[in-house]
Amino acid sequence: MTSGRRSVEEHEQHVAALLRPLHEKNTSRVPLAHALHRTLAENIDAPIDLPPFRNSQMDGYAVRADDLSSTPAILPVQGVLAAGDAVAALAPGHALKIMTGAPVPDGADAVIPVEDTRIDGAGSVVLERRVTPGTYVREAGTDVRAGEPLLPAGTVLAARHIAALAAVGLTAVPVRPRPRVAIISTGSELVTAGGELGPGQIFNSNGPALAASASANGADVVDVDHCHDDPDEFVKMLDHAVKVADLVLTSGGVSKGDFEVVKDTLGPRGGEFVSVAMQPGGPQGTAVIDGVPILTFPGNPVSALVSFEVFARPALRAAAGYPPAPSRIVPLTADLTSVADRRQFLRGRLDENGVTPFRGHGSHLVAGLATADVLLDIPADITSLEAGDLVKVLIL
Ligand code: AMP
Ligand code: MG
Repeated sequence: MTSGRRSVEEHEQHVAALLRPLHEKNTSRVPLAHALHRTLAENIDAPIDLPPFRNSQMDGYAVRADDLSSTPAILPVQGVLAAGDAVAALAPGHALKIMTGAPVPDGADAVIPVEDTRIDGAGSVVLERRVTPGTYVREAGTDVRAGEPLLPAGTVLAARHIAALAAVGLTAVPVRPRPRVAIISTGSELVTAGGELGPGQIFNSNGPALAASASANGADVVDVDHCHDDPDEFVKMLDHAVKVADLVLTSGGVSKGDFEVVKDTLGPRGGEFVSVAMQPGGPQGTAVIDGVPILTFPGNPVSALVSFEVFARPALRAAAGYPPAPSRIVPLTADLTSVADRRQFLRGRLDENGVTPFRGHGSHLVAGLATADVLLDIPADITSLEAGDLVKVLIL
């Protein structure tokens, strides 16, 4: 089915509704080694105290503060405690040499750093100053107590969270599922990097780019393939993709040419191909095959990535439990003009002065795209803006 021009907002809502089933997958448990960038599905309480036992914050001497009531105090050294040793007992009037992380002995209540001490001729430690109880002693449970909240559900796990989970001895955590995404690039001109470019051929950049975009936004990329503009080959690839993925992204083959393999194949299978009032990325399509949603993006590399940013990124992030992609309102550093009646997404660069839009608008400029770090989001009803005007930018 083909219908008329659709606004970006309408198509966003259509895509969001199509991709809502991605949110309903069950929680899974993953080992900590695979938990980076996953989203916690449940609150995690600390199963043990941190620190688990009272230990020394310094290399030095464990003492009883009362034994230093008159200084200098000269205390015989009872022995040495290394990190990993079991807890010992400090005899009255003695000091125990202790290393950072070793259990503070029973009876001791302070640690004197080694640099504040000296050893006399008889092997006793000489302490020149008094010390308050608790000095350089890390008490059990002062970081977090057993049973207290450690990390809330919804936390997107970074290295610091993995540290906390490992510190309390957890080996696996419940996480939100990652949507499985398959990517099919179409075009008889495409060659996978590593192959030889023949006449009229180009390397496939959309496949790797969309795979990277999907992974960066919480998806598990399960299949990346490309096919010629051949309906039989495309159908075969699609049949496989819908078996292994929760969402299929395609690029190319949705315009008005003679060999539009995506449109020609999916159109008769209930696909909907529309012209969205945006630039780049106007030709958009959606379909559902065997219950699996398919988003079809145009083939120009800039159009494909803008399509991903506008339509796939928000839905994938929501499904993975990620916060919305960042955007900012910033001043323009230069005047710009924009097409009438289309929401325009211009490549630009952000610095402390604001955003500078690129001059070359061609959707094929893939090397140029690599130098952009934002998309300026110019509303459909705006045709010109001046330096200093505020614009919304989507952070790439
Ligand atoms: P299409 O949307 O199939 O008409 O393609 C539009 C333009 O994008 C053509 O110049 C294609 O060669 C180019 N193109 C299509 N797919 C890719 C791809 N996967 N990687 C790089 N360029 C592509
Ligand atoms: Mg094509």
